[in-house]
Amino acid sequence: MERYAAILLSVLLIGAWVHRSSATGPAGQADLHPRKSLGAGFRYSTYGPKYDPGPAYWARVGTEMAARFPGAHPEAIWIVGRLHGRGVRLSFPVPAGDPLIEGAENDENEAALSLFDEKGFRVWLQVEPGFAPVERQIHLVLKQYAHHRSVQGVGVDVEWNRSTNPDGGEPVSDGEARAWLEAARSYNPNYRLFLKHFKTDVMPPTLRDGLVFIDDSQIFPSFDAMIEEFAKWGRTFAPAPVSFQFGYPSDRPWWSRLKDPPAEIGRRILAAVPNTEALIWVDFTVLEVFPPDRASTAAERIVGIKVYEHKGDMRKLVDRFAELGINTVFANEALCGNADFRRQARERKMRVFVIEPTFFDPEALKADPDLYAITSKGERAKEDWVEFVCPTREEFRRRKVTALRDAVMRLQPDGVSLDFIRYFVYWEMVGPDRKPETLPDTCYCPHCLARFSADTGITLPPDIKTAPQAADWISRNQQERWIRWKAGVITSMVQNLEAAARQAKPGILVNLHAVPWRTNDFGGAIRRVAGQDFRALSQLADFVSPMCYTLMLHRDASWIRSVVQDIGAVSSCPVLPSIQVRPEYPGDDAMSTADFEEALKAALATPSRGVIFWSWDHLAKEPDKMAVLKKLASRGRSPS
Ligand SMILES: [Zn+2]
Repeated sequence: MERYAAILLSVLLIGAWVHRSSATGPAGQADLHPRKSLGAGFRYSTYGPKYDPGPAYWARVGTEMAARFPGAHPEAIWIVGRLHGRGVRLSFPVPAGDPLIEGAENDENEAALSLFDEKGFRVWLQVEPGFAPVERQIHLVLKQYAHHRSVQGVGVDVEWNRSTNPDGGEPVSDGEARAWLEAARSYNPNYRLFLKHFKTDVMPPTLRDGLVFIDDSQIFPSFDAMIEEFAKWGRTFAPAPVSFQFGYPSDRPWWSRLKDPPAEIGRRILAAVPNTEALIWVDFTVLEVFPPDRASTAAERIVGIKVYEHKGDMRKLVDRFAELGINTVFANEALCGNADFRRQARERKMRVFVIEPTFFDPEALKADPDLYAITSKGERAKEDWVEFVCPTREEFRRRKVTALRDAVMRLQPDGVSLDFIRYFVYWEMVGPDRKPETLPDTCYCPHCLARFSADTGITLPPDIKTAPQAADWISRNQQERWIRWKAGVITSMVQNLEAAARQAKPGILVNLHAVPWRTNDFGGAIRRVAGQDFRALSQLADFVSPMCYTLMLHRDASWIRSVVQDIGAVSSCPVLPSIQVRPEYPGDDAMSTADFEEALKAALATPSRGVIFWSWDHLAKEPDKMAVLKKLASRGRSPS
């Protein structure tokens, strides 16, 4: 992330160098090392994608990327050395000796590289050197991996050359580049060296033989601007080969509008830059552009239970879960804080998600009633037990993010389950016949109105003084913009929370509690009222979990299926519905064992990733329904 910040800061610099003449290529230099056939593939790092789907996934991405360009080989830039402090952390064990070079406890690359050997890949092994000596890193990397026939050489990200700031990367001299190349070629005379940056003037002034120059520039105002800049890069180093990294989130505004971004960007680069050797999609967005195959990554179906409190023996509790085929527990902080519970769950290899309520916080509201969200009628957002904090209060948001980070550090859960991550509505009481205009509409507090104006540049007329006036004016003049902005308020909070969780515990899973409304239910209320935009949220979360509580909502099993399908159609992560197993509120429908079985089947139907039962309190009182689960678990398979 630090890299992002730094790159964003460097946008001005990019602008400056773009206009500099780049016709300084070594004209007339013999083409000593002609470019190889075209390569197409991806960049890989441990920090790029939100999770690592594994070697088979990466092999698939390389193959699919190459298939877009006739005659192309699959290619990978595989980052084995990540900037770490002032030095580097290599993702395999290294002998002690240099304080700036740290190694991993176990090898993290062998399985992927072996697969790439089999699949005919060309692989670069890249380091982000920092102040650690580059030659020594090259020796360590190639001692470890030169036996792989897919390896074609090593690469250095010059942005991190004797620097911990990507704008401070020191230029590479001809002599240094030659020494690095020789270090690599002591393992294989055919090896080459790539040097990567977005600036041309940090590259060796004249040395070209054996080198490939990679441009990783980003933050382009348009597709045309990228092509123009890449073409200059190509001309600067011609006839030496050049390669390009693209698909950065900062450029998503224009590339996301393309039908097939990797293919269309690649084809235009090839047309504009004749010495292109490889086209590389970056890992920061790879999961959305090359969605992981759910069947292959969903090795195990999730069978979860929500538990809010338990007083008895923890071993017995976890044993009962196991008996029922439950493999994931969603528990509140109080239960997760119980060391015995955590130990029992760990011994049973049961995943534990800690449930974290976001904008539902009665204590905070009691302490500071000014935090209440305000409805379009000018009232506090409160109905029965449901009361909501205004979602734009920066101090409150920061407090929640810090609390989540602390909880993750302290409890080390397998996942976090974000609850009440939306605008105010008591959706549990919204039956099928509810009129959309009777749903609450928030938040029209002065903070939100000021924030809306600041974010969008839309100014409300000065004579608007009250929440009802503001709500009325917005609905008549800026309704769509307001709804989009509201969704952004929720999405940005999820972004903050998930980033804090993943920073506190890399590899942690993020589940998101969703209001169980389909896109068009109640006049688009999922976005208009709740502010939940599943297309955006699913890019941040690992699961979206609609609370398909049929008894309180007076719905049937087929409705569960339709909610999962509707959310699944726009989500880039799996959908994990939660179902009700027993009446909760006085007006709730009844549920027979047969109804339960129907609901369970519907919840597990494609594209669902599993099911969560709400809640243990309820299920524990239903021996017949538990028997259904037990029967299925003992058959050793999940129902379908
Ligand atoms: Zn507000």
